[in-house]
Amino acid sequence: MENGEKNFNVRGNEKLIGSSDTAIRGVLALLKDNVDQSMQKPMIVLGHGDPTSFSGFRTTQVAEEAVIEALKSAQYNCYAPTVGLLSARGAVAEYLSRDLPYKLSSTNVHITSGCAHAIEIILMVLARPGANILLPKPGFPYYDARAEFSEIEIRHYDLISDRGWEINLDQVEALADDNTAAMVVINPGNPCGSVYSYQHLEQVAMTAQLLGIPIIADEVYDHLTFGSNPFVPMGVFASLAPVFTLGSISKRWLAPGWRLGWLAICDPARNFQGNTIDDCIKGCFNIVSGPPTFIQGAIPQILENTREEFFSDINAKLKECAGIAYSKIQEIPWLTCPLKPEGSMFLMVRLNLGMFEDVADDMDFCLKLAREEALILLPGFVMGMKNWLRITFAAELSALQDGIGRIKSFCVRHSLAAAH
Ligand SMILES: *Cc1c(COP(=O)(O)O)cnc(C)c1O
Repeated sequence: MENGEKNFNVRGNEKLIGSSDTAIRGVLALLKDNVDQSMQKPMIVLGHGDPTSFSGFRTTQVAEEAVIEALKSAQYNCYAPTVGLLSARGAVAEYLSRDLPYKLSSTNVHITSGCAHAIEIILMVLARPGANILLPKPGFPYYDARAEFSEIEIRHYDLISDRGWEINLDQVEALADDNTAAMVVINPGNPCGSVYSYQHLEQVAMTAQLLGIPIIADEVYDHLTFGSNPFVPMGVFASLAPVFTLGSISKRWLAPGWRLGWLAICDPARNFQGNTIDDCIKGCFNIVSGPPTFIQGAIPQILENTREEFFSDINAKLKECAGIAYSKIQEIPWLTCPLKPEGSMFLMVRLNLGMFEDVADDMDFCLKLAREEALILLPGFVMGMKNWLRITFAAELSALQDGIGRIKSFCVRHSLAAAH
């Protein structure tokens, strides 16, 4: 064959096509493209879960210095072991054990590239043929996308909006069968801002025990709570049902770009003894690669030396933002917010579509809002909740107030009554 005539028959994995239409980042990018750049108003983004671009949401100096020191020490230019540096695993085990009635050891902890990577790994581990998984609705769409890619059947259970977004446990019981690999519990909650009580979490664990399924506890918002319920880790109840605890420094330490997370196995009753889970997890870490070694090297310092004031300042800030967002939303009858957020960085509102003249659904609302008000919100369909919206309140107060004001002007302008 002549040069240039060769036919490269390369085809990609078509399962990957179209994923950005339903992924948080894909939808937000599409909405941002709809913002008129020549508009006077600056764009405000209350659609994603990364407040680090707002002043007042900077990580602690303790963490910054720990990374610099680790880097300069020249001790961490090497590859780390696949499951993470022993010192980092030990530090995370120690950190998580502070809130548990038993002690985790370093061997129970695996270091991952953020919590998203921990999700990816645990779903790879559980993806045996025929497996299904129970996911919350509304939920975090990364689980759906990863489960789909790993060909795990997805079964959604509802969070109940007028019961503080608690889990519908009757439904969980009805959905589970012998092929159910796990149920996912996100607490504190994204996207609802809910924080579950000790009693509810205990009931969740008892249900999992009854069904004989482990719990994947996504605790990436651990301790980011500011309501009446304190944060209680699911691992407290791990003697009832084994728990995979997923976390990272992305949210509590405001360092999502550092890509440092973990997957911890909480199984004090040794329910996993004699089965293959441990070996599958070990095997999985042979075919993935973890975060940079110097970030891992900084983890003991970060977890041990961050001052309490850093955490309490962030929680006070989030509490103030949540309160203002909630009360300003109460003044917008086109929206209904069932729960004043008590944790995380988000709240959910229902769009009262019947009150609008020309808004077809949640995506239509968000597209027009981007175009007319340069404000970006996340449409609920992305989280399985059509005609709802997720609003991030972790933002600078002025941007938050301005943003919610823009929602109100938009609603007034598109109101059914305004047309007459
Ligand atoms: C942000 C988030 C993650 C991902 O966390 P990273 O550490 O940035 O990978 C996982 N789960 C939930 C519920 C999140 O909100």
